[in-house]
Amino acid sequence: MEPFLKAAIFALGLCFGSFLNVCIYRLPREKSVVTPRSACPHCGDPIPLYHNLPVLSWLILRGKCRSCKQPISPRYLVIELLTGLLFLGCYAHFGLTLAALKCAVLGYLLLGLVFTDAETKLLPDAMTLPGLVLGIGFSLVVPVNDLASRIMPGLVSPAMRSEISWRIWSLSDSLLGAAVGASFLYGAAAIYLRARGVEGMGFGDVKLMALIGAFLGTKLTVFTIFAASLTGSLFGLSTVLAVWIKRFRRIEARRTSSSPSSGISSNPSSPISTSDARRRAWHSARLALRYYEMPFGVFLGGMALLSFFFGNRLLHWYWRAL
Ligand SMILES: [Zn+2]
Repeated sequence: MEPFLKAAIFALGLCFGSFLNVCIYRLPREKSVVTPRSACPHCGDPIPLYHNLPVLSWLILRGKCRSCKQPISPRYLVIELLTGLLFLGCYAHFGLTLAALKCAVLGYLLLGLVFTDAETKLLPDAMTLPGLVLGIGFSLVVPVNDLASRIMPGLVSPAMRSEISWRIWSLSDSLLGAAVGASFLYGAAAIYLRARGVEGMGFGDVKLMALIGAFLGTKLTVFTIFAASLTGSLFGLSTVLAVWIKRFRRIEARRTSSSPSSGISSNPSSPISTSDARRRAWHSARLALRYYEMPFGVFLGGMALLSFFFGNRLLHWYWRAL
């Protein structure tokens, strides 16, 4: 029975992943996810039902449209597989419980939002706002700090264990998490806009963080923001460094190739010294830093999912280490 159940859950994930691909493509373009039928984005050729099978169709067609032979993004395959693995992971972690369902819903929403943000730099309201409502709703049936109360039993007093009070406690943690997440991101976006004069984080990030807060509760929300800022900054810094190195190498290559082996100082066409090259490379890197729009939602979403699975364990381990 067990292997069949796992296969069924994985297959269900693949089908949900297939629908998520439609959402990722259509929601930022403000198109309906129900009609019309799926079509090739290049030639508009409708995709027949027998080619709508998750994963298999992509492999059979070898990632190309059957009529115009334009490549179909591997994202379709990746999303389907990731959703399948997500569903399987939730089942393995929580069994057939409401907690597993909550985790699957959160992961599903985050997968969609992370890939939409990475592709279009948009976080559609059609995903974030229903997600926020679902997160608050789930807090009434799955205790928000379920894992915390299991790991640190002293945290939950006997009075709080009575039915009604844990629901109130859980709901308030969810609402507070949403408020803390949204206001932190709102503040960060305002500071960012002031400091750099360009809008780096929009309201989409604020709503995404409200959604995450509603699912995770206050403590893990703060943890998610911290982890996302850290990984996001590291990513930003390495991007700037990569631009610097690339620029510097190019200027150096041009300098050495344009200067003939005889009489370097007498050649007027190569006045660039190494320090000049370094300065120019730094200038490009600063421009890249200024105009590069980091899809912060990618880091928020990714870290939120990690926090949901491992955040409490990490925090617990950290407190013990102190
Ligand atoms: Zn086509």
